[in-house]
Amino acid sequence: MTKKKIAVLPGDGIGPEVVKQGVSLLDSLSEALDMTFEFSEYLIGGACLNAHAVPVQDSTISACRQADAVLLGAVGSPEFDNNPPHLRPEKALLGMRAALGVYCNLRPAKLYQSLASASPLKPEIVAGIDMLVVRELTGGIYFGEPAGIASENGEDVGRNTMIYSEGEIRRIAHQAFQFAQKRRGHVTSVDKANVLSVSQLWRKVLTDVASEYPDVTLSHMLVDNCAMQLVRNPAQFDVVVTGNLFGDILSDEASVLTGSIGMLPSASLGDGAPLYEPVHGSAPDIAGTGKANPLAMMASIAMLVQYTFGRTDIAAAIEEAIEAVLEAGYHTADLQVQDGTLIGTEEMGRLVIDKVAEMLAVGAGV
Ligand code: NAD
Repeated sequence: MTKKKIAVLPGDGIGPEVVKQGVSLLDSLSEALDMTFEFSEYLIGGACLNAHAVPVQDSTISACRQADAVLLGAVGSPEFDNNPPHLRPEKALLGMRAALGVYCNLRPAKLYQSLASASPLKPEIVAGIDMLVVRELTGGIYFGEPAGIASENGEDVGRNTMIYSEGEIRRIAHQAFQFAQKRRGHVTSVDKANVLSVSQLWRKVLTDVASEYPDVTLSHMLVDNCAMQLVRNPAQFDVVVTGNLFGDILSDEASVLTGSIGMLPSASLGDGAPLYEPVHGSAPDIAGTGKANPLAMMASIAMLVQYTFGRTDIAAAIEEAIEAVLEAGYHTADLQVQDGTLIGTEEMGRLVIDKVAEMLAVGAGV
Protein backbone atom coordinates (compact mmCIF):
# COMPACT_ATOMS: atom_id res chain seq x y z
CA MET A 1 0.00 0.00 0.00
CA THR A 2 1.33 3.46 -0.79
CA LYS A 3 1.38 5.96 2.02
CA LYS A 4 -0.24 9.36 1.47
CA LYS A 5 0.21 12.41 3.65
CA ILE A 6 -2.99 14.39 4.17
CA ALA A 7 -2.77 17.79 5.87
CA VAL A 8 -6.01 18.52 7.72
CA LEU A 9 -7.06 22.09 8.54
CA PRO A 10 -10.40 21.95 10.39
CA GLY A 11 -10.61 25.72 10.99
CA ASP A 12 -13.55 27.38 12.73
CA GLY A 13 -17.26 26.98 13.38
CA ILE A 14 -18.66 23.92 11.60
CA GLY A 15 -15.27 23.36 9.90
CA PRO A 16 -14.08 20.73 12.42
CA GLU A 17 -17.51 19.03 12.40
CA VAL A 18 -17.60 18.49 8.64
CA VAL A 19 -13.87 17.75 8.31
CA LYS A 20 -14.28 14.89 10.78
CA GLN A 21 -16.73 13.23 8.38
CA GLY A 22 -14.44 13.85 5.41
CA VAL A 23 -11.46 12.29 7.17
CA SER A 24 -13.54 9.27 8.23
CA LEU A 25 -14.72 8.79 4.65
CA LEU A 26 -11.23 8.95 3.19
CA ASP A 27 -9.89 6.64 5.88
CA SER A 28 -12.65 4.14 5.10
CA LEU A 29 -11.42 4.00 1.48
CA SER A 30 -7.91 2.91 2.41
CA GLU A 31 -8.32 -0.66 1.22
CA ALA A 32 -10.22 0.23 -1.96
CA LEU A 33 -7.56 2.79 -2.87
CA ASP A 34 -4.71 0.52 -1.75
CA MET A 35 -3.30 3.42 0.27
CA THR A 36 -2.63 4.21 3.90
CA PHE A 37 -3.18 7.74 5.12
CA GLU A 38 -1.15 9.80 7.53
CA PHE A 39 -3.47 12.60 8.68
CA SER A 40 -1.76 15.60 10.32
CA GLU A 41 -3.94 18.31 11.81
CA TYR A 42 -3.06 22.02 11.99
CA LEU A 43 -4.82 25.13 13.26
CA ILE A 44 -6.02 27.76 10.79
CA GLY A 45 -8.21 30.88 10.88
CA GLY A 46 -9.73 32.03 14.17
CA ALA A 47 -8.50 28.91 15.96
CA CYS A 48 -4.93 29.81 14.98
CA LEU A 49 -5.42 33.49 15.87
CA ASN A 50 -6.48 32.47 19.37
CA ALA A 51 -3.57 30.08 19.82
CA HIS A 52 -0.75 31.86 17.96
CA ALA A 53 -1.99 35.39 17.13
CA VAL A 54 -1.69 34.76 13.37
CA PRO A 55 -4.31 33.35 10.95
CA VAL A 56 -1.92 30.63 9.78
CA GLN A 57 1.60 29.67 10.82
CA ASP A 58 4.46 29.42 8.31
CA SER A 59 5.16 25.90 9.59
CA THR A 60 1.60 24.91 8.62
CA ILE A 61 2.07 26.27 5.11
CA SER A 62 5.34 24.30 4.80
CA ALA A 63 3.65 21.12 6.02
CA CYS A 64 0.80 21.60 3.53
CA ARG A 65 3.31 22.05 0.72
CA GLN A 66 4.80 18.65 1.57
CA ALA A 67 1.42 16.92 1.70
CA ASP A 68 -0.19 14.86 -1.05
CA ALA A 69 -3.42 16.76 -0.44
CA VAL A 70 -4.83 19.34 1.95
CA LEU A 71 -8.32 19.16 3.48
CA LEU A 72 -9.77 22.41 4.76
CA GLY A 73 -13.01 22.90 6.71
CA ALA A 74 -13.82 26.62 6.87
CA VAL A 75 -12.52 29.70 8.61
CA GLY A 76 -14.21 32.74 10.10
CA SER A 77 -15.80 33.85 13.32
CA PRO A 78 -17.69 37.01 14.29
CA GLU A 79 -15.25 37.63 17.18
CA PHE A 80 -12.61 38.68 14.62
CA ASP A 81 -14.87 40.88 12.48
CA ASN A 82 -13.21 44.06 13.70
CA ASN A 83 -9.63 42.84 13.29
CA PRO A 84 -7.39 44.55 10.72
CA PRO A 85 -7.23 42.66 7.39
CA HIS A 86 -3.94 40.85 8.13
CA LEU A 87 -5.37 39.51 11.40
CA ARG A 88 -8.64 38.18 10.02
CA PRO A 89 -9.23 34.42 9.75
CA GLU A 90 -9.97 34.70 6.01
CA LYS A 91 -6.44 36.01 5.41
CA ALA A 92 -5.25 32.44 5.99
CA LEU A 93 -7.19 31.21 2.97
CA LEU A 94 -5.64 33.66 0.56
CA GLY A 95 -2.18 32.96 2.01
CA MET A 96 -2.64 29.21 1.73
CA ARG A 97 -3.94 29.35 -1.85
CA ALA A 98 -1.09 31.58 -2.94
CA ALA A 99 1.54 29.48 -1.15
CA LEU A 100 0.27 26.27 -2.73
CA GLY A 101 -0.01 27.92 -6.16
CA VAL A 102 -3.52 26.52 -6.61
CA TYR A 103 -4.69 28.80 -9.37
CA CYS A 104 -7.52 26.60 -10.65
CA ASN A 105 -10.58 26.37 -8.44
CA LEU A 106 -13.22 23.86 -9.51
CA ARG A 107 -16.73 24.20 -8.18
CA PRO A 108 -19.20 21.72 -9.63
CA ALA A 109 -22.87 22.49 -9.13
CA LYS A 110 -25.16 19.59 -9.88
CA LEU A 111 -28.76 19.07 -8.92
CA TYR A 112 -29.46 15.87 -7.05
CA GLN A 113 -32.94 14.92 -8.26
CA SER A 114 -34.20 14.26 -4.74
CA LEU A 115 -33.34 17.88 -3.84
CA ALA A 116 -35.22 19.52 -6.72
CA SER A 117 -37.87 20.75 -4.28
CA ALA A 118 -35.17 22.18 -1.95
CA SER A 119 -34.04 24.68 -4.60
CA PRO A 120 -35.36 28.23 -4.22
CA LEU A 121 -36.21 28.10 -7.96
CA LYS A 122 -39.05 26.20 -9.62
CA PRO A 123 -38.25 22.51 -10.32
CA GLU A 124 -38.67 23.00 -14.09
CA ILE A 125 -35.98 25.71 -14.05
CA VAL A 126 -33.42 23.78 -12.01
CA ALA A 127 -33.98 20.44 -13.77
CA GLY A 128 -30.75 19.31 -15.40
CA ILE A 129 -28.31 21.69 -13.66
CA ASP A 130 -24.85 20.19 -14.10
CA MET A 131 -22.15 22.80 -14.39
CA LEU A 132 -18.53 23.24 -13.45
CA VAL A 133 -17.36 26.69 -12.44
CA VAL A 134 -13.64 27.08 -13.13
CA ARG A 135 -12.51 30.06 -11.10
CA GLU A 136 -9.06 31.64 -11.32
CA LEU A 137 -7.93 31.64 -7.69
CA THR A 138 -4.54 33.24 -7.20
CA GLY A 139 -4.83 36.45 -9.22
CA GLY A 140 -7.22 39.27 -9.97
CA ILE A 141 -8.50 41.87 -7.58
CA TYR A 142 -8.01 39.77 -4.43
CA PHE A 143 -4.25 39.85 -4.92
CA GLY A 144 -3.62 42.91 -7.15
CA GLU A 145 -1.42 45.76 -5.91
CA PRO A 146 -1.75 48.56 -5.00
CA ALA A 147 -4.36 47.73 -2.40
CA GLY A 148 -5.33 49.22 0.93
CA ILE A 149 -6.88 52.23 2.61
CA ALA A 150 -4.85 55.41 2.71
CA SER A 151 -5.48 59.01 3.60
CA GLU A 152 -5.48 61.23 0.51
CA ASN A 153 -6.37 64.92 0.40
CA GLY A 154 -7.85 64.81 3.86
CA GLU A 155 -10.04 61.71 3.46
CA ASP A 156 -9.63 57.95 3.48
CA VAL A 157 -9.49 56.26 0.07
CA GLY A 158 -9.90 52.50 -0.40
CA ARG A 159 -8.22 50.86 -3.35
CA ASN A 160 -7.87 47.41 -4.97
CA THR A 161 -6.40 46.51 -8.32
CA MET A 162 -7.86 44.03 -10.77
CA ILE A 163 -4.95 42.70 -12.74
CA TYR A 164 -4.39 39.63 -14.92
CA SER A 165 -1.39 38.80 -17.04
CA GLU A 166 -1.78 36.94 -20.33
CA GLY A 167 -0.01 33.91 -18.81
CA GLU A 168 -2.40 33.74 -15.86
CA ILE A 169 -5.40 33.85 -18.20
CA ARG A 170 -3.92 31.35 -20.63
CA ARG A 171 -3.28 28.63 -18.02
CA ILE A 172 -6.80 28.82 -16.52
CA ALA A 173 -8.27 28.87 -20.05
CA HIS A 174 -6.46 25.62 -20.90
CA GLN A 175 -7.85 24.01 -17.74
CA ALA A 176 -11.40 25.09 -18.65
CA PHE A 177 -11.18 23.73 -22.21
CA GLN A 178 -9.70 20.45 -21.01
CA PHE A 179 -12.48 19.96 -18.46
CA ALA A 180 -15.05 20.79 -21.16
CA GLN A 181 -13.54 18.08 -23.38
CA LYS A 182 -14.36 15.54 -20.65
CA ARG A 183 -17.86 16.98 -20.19
CA ARG A 184 -20.37 18.34 -22.72
CA GLY A 185 -17.86 20.37 -24.74
CA HIS A 186 -18.95 23.94 -24.06
CA VAL A 187 -17.13 26.78 -22.27
CA THR A 188 -18.83 30.01 -21.22
CA SER A 189 -16.22 32.64 -20.39
CA VAL A 190 -17.55 35.33 -18.06
CA ASP A 191 -16.11 38.84 -17.95
CA LYS A 192 -16.99 42.52 -17.94
CA ALA A 193 -15.35 43.35 -21.27
CA ASN A 194 -17.75 46.22 -22.00
CA VAL A 195 -16.12 48.21 -19.17
CA LEU A 196 -12.88 46.65 -17.91
CA SER A 197 -9.57 46.55 -19.80
CA VAL A 198 -8.55 43.47 -17.82
CA SER A 199 -11.68 41.73 -19.17
CA GLN A 200 -10.87 42.76 -22.74
CA LEU A 201 -7.53 40.98 -22.42
CA TRP A 202 -9.29 38.02 -20.75
CA ARG A 203 -11.68 37.73 -23.74
CA LYS A 204 -8.89 37.99 -26.31
CA VAL A 205 -6.80 35.27 -24.66
CA LEU A 206 -9.80 32.96 -24.22
CA THR A 207 -10.65 33.33 -27.91
CA ASP A 208 -7.05 32.60 -28.82
CA VAL A 209 -6.80 29.47 -26.64
CA ALA A 210 -10.13 28.22 -28.02
CA SER A 211 -8.51 27.70 -31.43
CA GLU A 212 -6.46 24.87 -29.88
CA TYR A 213 -9.65 23.05 -28.87
CA PRO A 214 -11.79 22.66 -32.02
CA ASP A 215 -13.98 20.08 -30.26
CA VAL A 216 -15.06 22.64 -27.65
CA THR A 217 -17.36 25.60 -28.31
CA LEU A 218 -16.74 28.92 -26.58
CA SER A 219 -19.15 31.72 -25.81
CA HIS A 220 -18.52 34.94 -23.93
CA MET A 221 -20.97 36.35 -21.42
CA LEU A 222 -20.94 39.54 -19.38
CA VAL A 223 -20.97 38.91 -15.65
CA ASP A 224 -24.22 40.80 -15.06
CA ASN A 225 -25.97 38.73 -17.73
CA CYS A 226 -24.47 35.54 -16.27
CA ALA A 227 -25.87 36.37 -12.82
CA MET A 228 -29.28 36.69 -14.48
CA GLN A 229 -28.95 33.58 -16.69
CA LEU A 230 -28.07 31.49 -13.64
CA VAL A 231 -31.55 32.04 -12.24
CA ARG A 232 -33.31 32.14 -15.62
CA ASN A 233 -31.87 29.10 -17.35
CA PRO A 234 -29.07 27.51 -15.32
CA ALA A 235 -29.11 24.22 -17.25
CA GLN A 236 -27.60 26.01 -20.29
CA PHE A 237 -24.15 26.03 -18.61
CA ASP A 238 -21.52 23.33 -18.93
CA VAL A 239 -18.12 24.82 -17.99
CA VAL A 240 -18.07 28.43 -16.79
CA VAL A 241 -14.60 30.00 -16.60
CA THR A 242 -14.01 33.32 -14.94
CA GLY A 243 -11.70 35.39 -12.77
CA ASN A 244 -11.36 35.39 -9.02
CA LEU A 245 -13.96 37.99 -8.01
CA PHE A 246 -16.69 37.04 -10.49
CA GLY A 247 -16.08 33.36 -9.78
CA ASP A 248 -16.48 33.88 -6.05
CA ILE A 249 -19.88 35.47 -6.47
CA LEU A 250 -21.25 33.37 -9.33
CA SER A 251 -20.24 30.05 -7.78
CA ASP A 252 -22.12 30.92 -4.59
CA GLU A 253 -25.14 31.86 -6.68
CA ALA A 254 -24.86 28.59 -8.59
CA SER A 255 -24.50 26.65 -5.37
CA VAL A 256 -27.76 27.77 -3.82
CA LEU A 257 -29.67 26.68 -6.95
CA THR A 258 -28.88 23.10 -6.06
CA GLY A 259 -30.67 23.23 -2.71
CA SER A 260 -28.08 24.32 -0.16
CA ILE A 261 -24.60 25.71 0.03
CA GLY A 262 -24.00 22.75 2.34
CA MET A 263 -23.94 20.47 -0.74
CA LEU A 264 -21.18 22.10 -2.77
CA PRO A 265 -17.60 20.76 -2.89
CA SER A 266 -14.51 22.36 -4.36
CA ALA A 267 -11.03 21.47 -5.50
CA SER A 268 -8.17 23.89 -6.00
CA LEU A 269 -5.46 22.60 -8.28
CA GLY A 270 -2.19 24.06 -9.49
CA ASP A 271 1.52 23.56 -9.21
CA GLY A 272 1.66 22.45 -5.57
CA ALA A 273 -0.38 20.29 -3.21
CA PRO A 274 -4.07 20.29 -4.14
CA LEU A 275 -6.59 21.76 -1.70
CA TYR A 276 -10.05 20.31 -1.14
CA GLU A 277 -12.71 22.19 0.79
CA PRO A 278 -16.46 22.75 0.90
CA VAL A 279 -17.68 25.96 -0.71
CA HIS A 280 -19.52 27.07 2.44
CA GLY A 281 -18.11 29.08 5.32
CA SER A 282 -17.86 28.38 9.04
CA ALA A 283 -21.64 28.89 9.63
CA PRO A 284 -21.26 30.32 13.14
CA ASP A 285 -25.07 30.36 13.46
CA ILE A 286 -25.20 26.53 13.65
CA ALA A 287 -21.70 25.67 14.90
CA GLY A 288 -21.70 23.16 17.74
CA THR A 289 -25.34 22.15 17.24
CA GLY A 290 -24.66 18.99 15.23
CA LYS A 291 -26.81 20.35 12.38
CA ALA A 292 -24.08 20.99 9.78
CA ASN A 293 -24.49 19.23 6.47
CA PRO A 294 -21.24 17.27 5.86
CA LEU A 295 -22.04 16.42 2.22
CA ALA A 296 -20.06 19.29 0.68
CA MET A 297 -16.98 18.06 2.53
CA MET A 298 -17.69 14.44 1.61
CA ALA A 299 -18.18 15.37 -2.05
CA SER A 300 -14.84 17.21 -1.83
CA ILE A 301 -13.32 13.84 -0.89
CA ALA A 302 -14.83 12.46 -4.11
CA MET A 303 -13.00 15.23 -6.00
CA LEU A 304 -9.76 14.37 -4.17
CA VAL A 305 -10.07 10.73 -5.07
CA GLN A 306 -10.74 11.68 -8.70
CA TYR A 307 -8.22 14.46 -9.32
CA THR A 308 -5.36 13.54 -7.00
CA PHE A 309 -5.58 9.74 -6.96
CA GLY A 310 -7.08 9.33 -10.46
CA ARG A 311 -9.82 6.99 -9.19
CA THR A 312 -12.89 8.13 -11.09
CA ASP A 313 -14.59 4.85 -10.17
CA ILE A 314 -14.39 5.45 -6.42
CA ALA A 315 -15.32 9.11 -6.84
CA ALA A 316 -18.44 7.95 -8.68
CA ALA A 317 -19.24 5.53 -5.85
CA ILE A 318 -19.11 8.39 -3.32
CA GLU A 319 -21.39 10.55 -5.46
CA GLU A 320 -23.81 7.68 -5.97
CA ALA A 321 -23.81 6.96 -2.23
CA ILE A 322 -24.67 10.59 -1.46
CA GLU A 323 -27.47 10.46 -3.99
CA ALA A 324 -28.79 7.17 -2.58
CA VAL A 325 -28.86 8.49 1.00
CA LEU A 326 -30.72 11.61 -0.13
CA GLU A 327 -33.11 9.55 -2.21
CA ALA A 328 -33.87 7.44 0.85
CA GLY A 329 -35.22 10.68 2.33
CA TYR A 330 -32.44 11.51 4.80
CA HIS A 331 -31.58 15.17 5.03
CA THR A 332 -29.91 17.72 7.29
CA ALA A 333 -31.79 20.83 8.46
CA ASP A 334 -30.44 23.08 5.68
CA LEU A 335 -32.18 20.95 3.03
CA GLN A 336 -35.85 21.86 2.87
CA VAL A 337 -37.12 18.39 1.97
CA GLN A 338 -40.72 17.43 2.65
CA ASP A 339 -41.60 14.10 4.28
CA GLY A 340 -37.99 13.08 4.80
CA THR A 341 -36.04 12.04 7.88
CA LEU A 342 -34.17 14.87 9.56
CA ILE A 343 -30.72 13.80 10.76
CA GLY A 344 -27.55 15.46 12.06
CA THR A 345 -23.94 15.72 10.87
CA GLU A 346 -22.67 12.48 12.43
CA GLU A 347 -25.53 10.35 11.20
CA MET A 348 -25.34 11.75 7.67
CA GLY A 349 -21.61 11.03 7.63
CA ARG A 350 -22.10 7.48 8.84
CA LEU A 351 -24.89 6.73 6.36
CA VAL A 352 -22.76 7.87 3.41
CA ILE A 353 -19.69 5.96 4.59
CA ASP A 354 -21.75 2.79 5.06
CA LYS A 355 -23.35 3.23 1.65
CA VAL A 356 -19.98 3.71 -0.09
CA ALA A 357 -18.70 0.55 1.62
CA GLU A 358 -21.79 -1.35 0.49
CA MET A 359 -21.38 -0.10 -3.09
CA LEU A 360 -17.69 -0.96 -3.23
CA ALA A 361 -18.40 -4.40 -1.77
CA VAL A 362 -20.88 -5.27 -4.50
CA GLY A 363 -18.93 -3.48 -7.21
CA ALA A 364 -21.68 -0.95 -7.92
CA GLY A 365 -20.43 2.37 -9.20
CA VAL A 366 -17.00 0.87 -9.83
P1 NAD B 1 -21.64 30.49 5.53
O1 NAD B 1 -21.44 29.68 4.32
O2 NAD B 1 -20.81 30.16 6.69
O3 NAD B 1 -23.18 30.41 5.98
C1 NAD B 1 -24.26 30.89 5.18
C2 NAD B 1 -25.55 30.18 5.62
O4 NAD B 1 -25.52 28.84 5.15
C3 NAD B 1 -25.73 30.12 7.12
O5 NAD B 1 -27.09 30.24 7.44
C4 NAD B 1 -25.25 28.73 7.49
O6 NAD B 1 -25.85 28.18 8.63
C5 NAD B 1 -25.61 27.95 6.24
N1 NAD B 1 -24.65 26.86 5.99
C6 NAD B 1 -23.41 26.98 5.48
N2 NAD B 1 -22.82 25.78 5.41
C7 NAD B 1 -23.69 24.89 5.89
C8 NAD B 1 -23.65 23.48 6.08
N3 NAD B 1 -22.58 22.73 5.76
N4 NAD B 1 -24.72 22.88 6.63
C9 NAD B 1 -25.82 23.59 6.96
N5 NAD B 1 -25.92 24.92 6.78
C10 NAD B 1 -24.86 25.58 6.25
O7 NAD B 1 -21.44 32.02 5.10
P2 NAD B 1 -21.44 33.35 5.99
O8 NAD B 1 -22.46 33.22 7.07
O9 NAD B 1 -21.51 34.44 5.04
O10 NAD B 1 -20.00 33.40 6.66
C11 NAD B 1 -19.70 32.91 7.97
C12 NAD B 1 -18.20 32.98 8.17
O11 NAD B 1 -17.55 32.09 7.28
C13 NAD B 1 -17.61 34.38 7.90
O12 NAD B 1 -16.62 34.62 8.84
C14 NAD B 1 -17.01 34.24 6.50
O13 NAD B 1 -15.95 35.10 6.29
C15 NAD B 1 -16.55 32.80 6.54
N6 NAD B 1 -16.43 32.17 5.21
C16 NAD B 1 -15.41 31.28 5.08
C17 NAD B 1 -15.27 30.59 3.89
C18 NAD B 1 -14.18 29.56 3.82
O14 NAD B 1 -13.58 29.22 4.83
N7 NAD B 1 -13.87 29.04 2.63
C19 NAD B 1 -16.18 30.76 2.84
C20 NAD B 1 -17.23 31.66 3.03
C21 NAD B 1 -17.36 32.35 4.23
